[in-house]
Amino acid sequence: MIPLVAGSHSLSFGVATRYMCLGPVRDSMHVVVLGAGYAGLTVTRLLERDLPSDVGITLVDESPDHLVQHELHRVIRRPSVANEITVSLPATLERATVRVARVEELDRDERVVSLSDGRLEYDVAAICLGARTAYYGIEGVAEYGTPLKRLAHARRIRSRALEVIRGDEGRIVVGGAGLSGVQVAGELAALARESGGTASITILEQLDRVAPGFPANFGRAVTRALEAYGVEVRTEATVIEADETHVALESGESVAYDQFVWTGGIRGPDAFEGDRLAVGDDLRLDTRTFAVGDAARVTDATGDAVPASAQSAVREARTAAENIGRLVDAERDDAAALEPHLESFTFHSPGWLVSVGDDAVAQVGPAVLTGRAAKALKTTVGVGYLSSVGAVRNAAEFVSGELGRDCSS
Ligand SMILES: Cc1cc2nc3c(=O)[nH]c(=O)nc-3n(C[C@H](O)[C@H](O)[C@H](O)COP(=O)(O)OP(=O)(O)OC[C@H]3O[C@@H](n4cnc5c(N)ncnc54)[C@H](O)[C@@H]3O)c2cc1C
Repeated sequence: MIPLVAGSHSLSFGVATRYMCLGPVRDSMHVVVLGAGYAGLTVTRLLERDLPSDVGITLVDESPDHLVQHELHRVIRRPSVANEITVSLPATLERATVRVARVEELDRDERVVSLSDGRLEYDVAAICLGARTAYYGIEGVAEYGTPLKRLAHARRIRSRALEVIRGDEGRIVVGGAGLSGVQVAGELAALARESGGTASITILEQLDRVAPGFPANFGRAVTRALEAYGVEVRTEATVIEADETHVALESGESVAYDQFVWTGGIRGPDAFEGDRLAVGDDLRLDTRTFAVGDAARVTDATGDAVPASAQSAVREARTAAENIGRLVDAERDDAAALEPHLESFTFHSPGWLVSVGDDAVAQVGPAVLTGRAAKALKTTVGVGYLSSVGAVRNAAEFVSGELGRDCSS
């Protein structure tokens, strides 16, 4: 078990400093990882494995648990999935200190993080704070649309959906057809079907296809899977306003709803005023600060923009951890007068995978799979991820949950 720090406890590292090419270095080095999502947890576990034992590692998150967000939509239909996708941070780490606090600000010149309960000094930092829902200032959307980023959102969506589905000819509108929107629409449609309700589900997408930013054949297969569930898929439908009963579209049309879910986009963390931090292929914001995952807008070594996704966050985290290790090594080596050579990040995706109710769509290379093969792949990926972050109990529960659900569906 590793220490979990909460409340007013504050860590302070190194009074004495020495100077090297990368700036002042404290005698006891300290690496902080801000945010314990896919990026932050992966970076921290790799640093635990690779950094010398006298280098301090602190992982900060406002929650004591890691949330497996890419399965979050499933809680809407199966509340028990919440247990499978909630991973206790202390249980999955060996020596890093977990500090439960909100990150409020980062002073990169002074190398100090302001937290809700104090401050934290660092030598090297990795910003892995993920993203928040973007409302783009569209009137009424933040007020009337429910986002989906945390468990509380999934539970709120479920409880309202059950009321709507059990009512007479309810209308559920989902705004935004990215990875989260299509999966939410699929879950809601499956929930309506299971409950024997007559609710209609409509998904609105501003661009000309669902899952924009992902391969076109994948988007087409997702559209077919949604339509097979009776979801009305509307592309080139730009939301310009919402009130408590209607969503207004740019075309002049007004779409009536009983429930409105908003998955229309992401923005950066509040600690950075909503900006996603632009980094290049070494994932560095400056010599000692890395930005990884959804919190960052990454351009990889080929010059391509990396899509915000769980798989990008995990892959970027591996490069960030490697580069943090090289920085630490260079600074501990008194002979190191030059900046170390850092690894460069290139995003290679093995494919994309989403669930649509009880169906799934997988794009593997040029091929697109659906049905049992895609579902098996999705279970394998979910279990593989949970095992890779040391959440073996969650992985076991996840597999038995999937088998149970498969047998009962
Ligand atoms: C419903 C849904 C379905 C999705 N499906 C897929 C999918 O099928 N495939 C895929 O690749 N991606 C999917 N995604 C996207 C994926 O979940 C994100 O891209 C991924 O979570 C990004 O990882 P991250 O580590 O950057 O951020 P996150 O996983 O969001 O982690 C950020 C962490 O930072 C913490 N944090 C944030 N702000 C603060 C603060 N101020 N102080 C302290 N802690 C803070 C949070 O508590 C959180 O633990 C889906 C997302 C959603 C919502």
